[in-house]
Amino acid sequence: MFGSLLGRDIAIDLGTANTLVYVRGEGVVLREPSVIAIDNTRGKVLAVGAEAKQMLGRTPGTINAHRPMKDGVIRDADYATEMIRHFIRSVHKNRYLNKPRVVICVPIGATQVEKKTIKEAAKLAGAREVFLIPEPMAAAIGAGLPVGEARGNMVCDIGGGTSEIAVISLGGIVCAKPITVGGDAIDDAIINWIKREYSLHIGYQTAEKIKIEAASAYPTPGLSHAEIRGRDVVTGLPRTVTVTPEEIRKAIEEPVLQIIDAIKGALDQTPPELSSDIIDRGIILTGGGALLTGLVQRVESETGIVTYVAESAEDCVVLGSGKCLENFESLKRVFIDA
Ligand code: ADP
Ligand code: MG
Repeated sequence: MFGSLLGRDIAIDLGTANTLVYVRGEGVVLREPSVIAIDNTRGKVLAVGAEAKQMLGRTPGTINAHRPMKDGVIRDADYATEMIRHFIRSVHKNRYLNKPRVVICVPIGATQVEKKTIKEAAKLAGAREVFLIPEPMAAAIGAGLPVGEARGNMVCDIGGGTSEIAVISLGGIVCAKPITVGGDAIDDAIINWIKREYSLHIGYQTAEKIKIEAASAYPTPGLSHAEIRGRDVVTGLPRTVTVTPEEIRKAIEEPVLQIIDAIKGALDQTPPELSSDIIDRGIILTGGGALLTGLVQRVESETGIVTYVAESAEDCVVLGSGKCLENFESLKRVFIDA
């Protein structure tokens, strides 16, 4: 009773692809694509989240579906604010009683200006106070790694727009390698390849579906052929082609290699004592991109280090941010004082 009057503090994982919201004392209550659709004629928000994502690439001239986050940071402050406002409202029913305290994660590579933009958007959207947490730190806490110990932990969070690799010890980030390559770049690679090899135009949603169902980062038995439907570049007519798993693996090789190189780069910068801890404890993958078929095997074969996908990989960042809300005093040192 008292708790509900004190406002419900929340943690937000504002990802390029998906936004997740954690409510203190309750857990993860919202998972929606980071998409907002606007009706241009009236300047009104038409849909947010899954419904808006459906509209991407399918809108008539009067409607615009936007992804306000790019490379892990806010690309369009107005749309981002509207989207955050919508998400906060949908989980914060007693908003007339008290504004929530909000924890939001930010990419390691975010500039001061980008951090400020995120803070301001959250305040405009109804937050009382905003605390920022580095994304890989949140991912590590959410994956259950003992970040406070004097041992090296390596986490690799692969999202839509970014991948962030970090080595964490004693509650701090010892070294990090953020890159603006993630699941979106793999979708792009599929789109470009199918256009080049088969003269077929496909959209982002189709590319993502092919990636999830048929792509792989390492030879994997049992993958089936994919039927790809699109529009013929020359005739403009709809057409279907059938492709093999090996072809798709080759098509996505470039972005996969960029992720592998970033992991190797982070290992290369790691102080020796911590490297030896990582050999013992392995590499943990989080984020939706960690679910790419064969990625674990690929990382293992390229680094020689045992690799795992975290449990609830897509939820790790918001779970870690939520844990900081629940244990505010003991974990507040991980927040960034921007
Ligand atoms: P962000 O933090 O940037 O919002 P997420 O951690 O939610 O991103 O991950 C989204 C990315 O993960 C998208 O590119 C999505 O296509 C990809 N993804 C989700 N599930 C899978 C899967 N099973 N295989 C490959 N990629 C996946
Ligand atoms: Mg993320």
